[in-house]
Amino acid sequence: MPRESLRALQNKRLHNTVDYVYHQVPYYRETLDRVGIKPENIRSVDDLQKLPFTKKQALRDYYPFGLLAVPRENLMRIHASSGTTGKPTVVCYTANDVDVFAEVNARSLATAGARRGMILHNAYGYGLFTGGLGIHYGGERLGMTVVPVSGGATQRQVTLILDFKPEVICCTPSYAQTLGEEFKKRGISPEEISLKVGLLGAEPWTETIRVAVEASLGIAATNIYGLSEIIGPGVSQECIEARAGSHIWEDHFYPEVVNIETGNPLPDGKEGVLIFTHLTREAMPLLRYWTGDITYLTHDVCACGRTHVRMGPIRGRADDMLIVRGVNLYPTQVEEILKGIPEVTPHYQIVVTRVSTLDEVEVKVELTEEVFRHVAQDVITDDVIAVDHAMHALRNKIEHLIRDTLGLGVTVTLVPPETVPRSEGGKLRRVEDKRNL
Ligand code: ADP
Ligand code: ZN
Repeated sequence: MPRESLRALQNKRLHNTVDYVYHQVPYYRETLDRVGIKPENIRSVDDLQKLPFTKKQALRDYYPFGLLAVPRENLMRIHASSGTTGKPTVVCYTANDVDVFAEVNARSLATAGARRGMILHNAYGYGLFTGGLGIHYGGERLGMTVVPVSGGATQRQVTLILDFKPEVICCTPSYAQTLGEEFKKRGISPEEISLKVGLLGAEPWTETIRVAVEASLGIAATNIYGLSEIIGPGVSQECIEARAGSHIWEDHFYPEVVNIETGNPLPDGKEGVLIFTHLTREAMPLLRYWTGDITYLTHDVCACGRTHVRMGPIRGRADDMLIVRGVNLYPTQVEEILKGIPEVTPHYQIVVTRVSTLDEVEVKVELTEEVFRHVAQDVITDDVIAVDHAMHALRNKIEHLIRDTLGLGVTVTLVPPETVPRSEGGKLRRVEDKRNL
């Protein structure tokens, strides 16, 4: 759709949504009355700035059904966020919402290169988490053959992939790493794996992981993004043609990126907090929902021809950001640095402790098999590698790189291959903050 038509559609849908929630959801009527806004004041997406943000706390305060715009009996489905950060929040769907959920996921799959008739190995978790069922419905809508494997039971997953020969896989990037390692252990090369494309998401990942996963599974890996409050997976998806940012399905979810301190909108290319406004939601529409995810937007024309705006990779969540001795640190920044060091794998863990008043950061970094084989056996104790001469140099190199790039002194611990926690199907937490802040 040309951008002018898309804009006209958004304006119409936005006005309808604001009018709808004003009359159906007491929370929004009170909020809008408080700032003196009537639905007729919101005629275009440029008027959005007049509205306050909706934060996750509102969903908690009105738990479970306080923000519904429809009678409870009209709900077809209830999901909950996976609760990575705090108490889970409940999200509700009418039949029409489930229909849109299927539509945006079918669209995402097609955008990633999936086609009718292909087999989809769906290793996102099924259940309250939106990932499994969202992708599942999308695959069916597209006319694919869906295998609802869900997360975990890695041995069985590998067997099923070898037997069914799916072309498409959906899972978290960390679980794709786990699967890749399992294939390697079984001596199966990427060329022998039927998979062609992967839709990976639900947690932050970087180009390092993309390269590793593509090499081990023999796929083209694309990013899928979503959050339960907005619909689940299928809010945005990277196109297989360009793989340069994820197209946001903005005919359903209107995006903004704002300054984290001031809340003011930011121009293309500038990183800030991602905000979404529902344009077609029936059960629980949200206005200017503050995702806490940090990224930027770009309206540049995409090589694939789609006109939908793109978002960059998620740098992290606002609440994923560690503040260590006053320095802001996202785990993905450490990952970017490790990418440049051939002796180590993209598996790492960050442990933050506080010794009296001083924050200490330990970065556990895994050696590759090849390097590990050459480490003198007598320096390996339990899960840690003592520093002999060569290891000393490597450790110093990584510590210096991190200090130079991030302005933060850390202690690097080198550990043997496969000792850092792996994904067992769901989201992987790469940070352990033991500070009790
Ligand atoms: P929870 O907040 O409990 O994890 P969700 O399951 O709704 O609940 O997860 C949504 C969050 O997951 C997003 O807000 C974002 O932080 C993260 N996420 C989802 N997809 C991606 C992705 N492709 N890249 C980075 N982060 C993602
Ligand atoms: Zn594109």
